[in-house]
Amino acid sequence: MKRRDFFKASAIGVITPKSLIEASKIKIPKNKPVVLSTWNFGLKANVEAEKSLRNGGNAMDAAEKGAMNAESDEENNSVGIGGAPDEKGNVTLDACVMDSSGNAGSVAFLQNIKHPVSVARKVMEDTKHVMLVGEGAREFAVSNGFKEIDLLTKKSKKEWKKWLKTKREMTPHETHDTISVLVQDKKGDLAGACTTSGWAYKMHGRVGDSPIIGSGLFVDNEIGSAAATGLGEEVIKTNGSFLVVELMRQGRSPMEACEEALKRVIKRHNGNPDFQIGYIALRKDGTIGSACLKWSFEYALSKNGENKLYKINGLLS
Ligand code: ASP
Repeated sequence: MKRRDFFKASAIGVITPKSLIEASKIKIPKNKPVVLSTWNFGLKANVEAEKSLRNGGNAMDAAEKGAMNAESDEENNSVGIGGAPDEKGNVTLDACVMDSSGNAGSVAFLQNIKHPVSVARKVMEDTKHVMLVGEGAREFAVSNGFKEIDLLTKKSKKEWKKWLKTKREMTPHETHDTISVLVQDKKGDLAGACTTSGWAYKMHGRVGDSPIIGSGLFVDNEIGSAAATGLGEEVIKTNGSFLVVELMRQGRSPMEACEEALKRVIKRHNGNPDFQIGYIALRKDGTIGSACLKWSFEYALSKNGENKLYKINGLLS
């Protein structure tokens, strides 16, 4: 880029090198763990994550335990067992994890395994790869001792049958949510986990943002972490979670970073997107932020001995 163009770009905020955060100057909180999760089921997930931290677990252990809580909940129709199936009645799961060293693991289109988040962690820790999908992911899980079970519960089967009768092409976006758990542990290290059954009654083979590193989740132990929920296709197109973390690196607060990432989506849709995306962000100094596009969104924050649910309105509400 020519020097003149560089300054032009800086002036309109495209490049803001002066405001880049110097990681070494961030005050890292010690012995002040933070757990931040999406949606109301995040409350229970936070309890499990906190338990893990109290028992000596690190940020990665805690994020995994939190995510596992939602995966085990049969009443939760958008994560793990009891999650809504695809249009053919198969429950197919997506999940990923990232630890404080920048390692990542992911599984997509995984069937019959109760804890995809733990399989994603195994991929990260025990293989040379980042992502395993479908049959290969299932085989890997089974060979590592994960039991195969039927994830379609009576209730989710009944709902799916009902959907088949109505022949709706798509379900409203509100009917699919993801649990993402962002953790800062006692040492100040960051890690995260993200897991979902994805878009209810999606096409067979569809994979959303949740197992895509940088889209559904991104952790940079120098700067912060971010995670997404909502319409995965649109999160992927804007590389949402990576963008939120990079915006924090450029000096935005966690909330401003979430908002700016959403503004790009709004712009892409001429000011009027008809779907939901929600972001949560946790900066290395322990501050958090969240924003969503439309309607409302809830996140659960556990900090300073309190675990609370917060409701926010969409930028366009
Ligand atoms: N982001 C998830 C997906 O698109 C679902 C959701 O969070 O609503 O698969």
